[in-house]
Amino acid sequence: MPDVPLAVIGDERRRWLRAAFELADLIEGEVRFDRHDRMLYATDASIYQVEPLGVVIPASIDEAVKVMRYCHQHDLPLLPRGGGTALAGQSVNRAVVLDFSRHCTAVRDLDPAAATATVEPGVVLDQLNRAAAPHGLMFGPDVATSTHATLGGMIGNNSAGAHSILYGRTVEHLAALDVALADGTRLTLDEGAAERDEQVAALARGVADIVRPLAAEIRARLPDHYPPRRRVQPRPGAGSARGMHGGPARPAEPGPSRVRLGGNARHRARCDGEPGAGAGAPPAGPRRLPVAR
Ligand SMILES: Cc1cc2nc3c(=O)[nH]c(=O)nc-3n(C[C@H](O)[C@H](O)[C@H](O)COP(=O)(O)OP(=O)(O)OC[C@H]3O[C@@H](n4cnc5c(N)ncnc54)[C@H](O)[C@@H]3O)c2cc1C
Repeated sequence: MPDVPLAVIGDERRRWLRAAFELADLIEGEVRFDRHDRMLYATDASIYQVEPLGVVIPASIDEAVKVMRYCHQHDLPLLPRGGGTALAGQSVNRAVVLDFSRHCTAVRDLDPAAATATVEPGVVLDQLNRAAAPHGLMFGPDVATSTHATLGGMIGNNSAGAHSILYGRTVEHLAALDVALADGTRLTLDEGAAERDEQVAALARGVADIVRPLAAEIRARLPDHYPPRRRVQPRPGAGSARGMHGGPARPAEPGPSRVRLGGNARHRARCDGEPGAGAGAPPAGPRRLPVAR
């Protein structure tokens, strides 16, 4: 029987123990609730140390969604995790940690002509770039932790990199996101999603309701030297992956801005390539070009 975390007291002890066994029955992947594993996941690249309730390493996206549903039904906090290289404590919490970096690691397709790739959230940046390089493509944001940073974590952090002023951050390179809300509801966020899907529209309205009253203040306080794409500005594309991404608040017309949506199921990322280099005519080597505004 796993040793119960010290912070889990009273009735919670029973709930915690039940979760450890029920989750193990629910999925093929790994359920690691013992102290050793909890301590392994108690740190990230930040100064913080927070012991999680336990760790789940799903064997697939569908299993991850099952775990999300279970945690929602049993009122257990959940924290998705990639490479754990975040600097501000985002990847540690008193929660069930859902580690995507082990098994959800497939580059599902790479379309050189469209310069897009469909990747699972645990795909590491260097892995994606290795797959894209033969086509003369690469993913623009170049975080220093590219050997370990996952696309899920980059999207969660809206990661940038040394060249982000020129090439943009992760948000500027998202074409579509398949996401799961905390209760396991699956949604696809892409351009125009809010017009097709009432659930996405409701999310967008909810975000807009939070951000709109603050828009004037955000505009007034944002430093002038920030590049235009980082400023608060009305933007079409309600419900798009960009609008729903974990980046800075940007009230859009008709609505969406920033939300954190829990476990992402599948991300389609855009690789920057040479404009005009169509199918069958890849540029000779990898290169990056400024993203379109
Ligand atoms: C030495 C060093 C240099 C760095 N350089 C840079 C840099 O140049 N630019 C930069 O932007 N950052 C940098 N970072 C920060 C960090 O490495 C990046 O932000 C990286 O992209 C995070 O990826 P990760 O997979 O480690 O994410 P994690 O740390 O695992 O997670 C980051 C956040 O995303 C969430 N998340 C993870 N996976 C999912 C998912 N599937 N669904 C939903 N949410 C998810 C987590 O809950 C967490 O909030 C640096 C860090 C270090 C230690």
